[in-house]
Amino acid sequence: MHDDVEKVLIDEDVIEKRLDVLAECILEEFCGRKFVVVVILKGALVFTADLLRRMPIPLEIECINVASYHGATESSGQVDFLDAKLPPVGGRSVLLIDDILDTGRTLAAVGQKLREQGAEMIKSCVLLCKDKERAAEVEADHVGFHIGDEFVVGYGLDFRGLYRNLPFVGVLKEKIIRNPP
Ligand code: 5GP
Ligand code: MG
Repeated sequence: MHDDVEKVLIDEDVIEKRLDVLAECILEEFCGRKFVVVVILKGALVFTADLLRRMPIPLEIECINVASYHGATESSGQVDFLDAKLPPVGGRSVLLIDDILDTGRTLAAVGQKLREQGAEMIKSCVLLCKDKERAAEVEADHVGFHIGDEFVVGYGLDFRGLYRNLPFVGVLKEKIIRNPP
């Protein structure tokens, strides 16, 4: 699996250190207010697990399953909600977590759905933010790392369902993208 990686962009220990700071900032933002964490599956799974273990406060976790890449390396432009039911966020403060902010469509669409469900306050957090123009007007309140506009895998992010369990964020070799395993 590691052989398929062209370069490591963000190393495991760099992620760990950044998560310490990110957790502090988020706790400060909610300043004692109870909140529910909404995890956007599956990409944000690894990031969320590590981030929340740095937050020793009472919180609840809900998941929301969306897809927009459908096995490609670029967004399809459409955000599909894969769950029959949405998380119960009515009247609650929400921390919305995703792996990466790219076109912005996912965060915008999920934020909109949660507002429709009656969420009182929504703050968002992403591990990665691609610095580029967005299709949807949205930015994350908390960002782990800013990266360039390239397709990355690892630490929860996949290519065709694989590589989520890489402990770092990296870029795949061109030949792997052309001839997927
Ligand atoms: P957006 O809706 O902002 O375009 O994209 C958000 C979603 O697209 C993320 O939740 C993630 O699933 C996927 N995505 C965007 N950029 C990348 C990337 O570089 N690598 C991978 N593996 N997924 C990405
Ligand atoms: Mg995603």
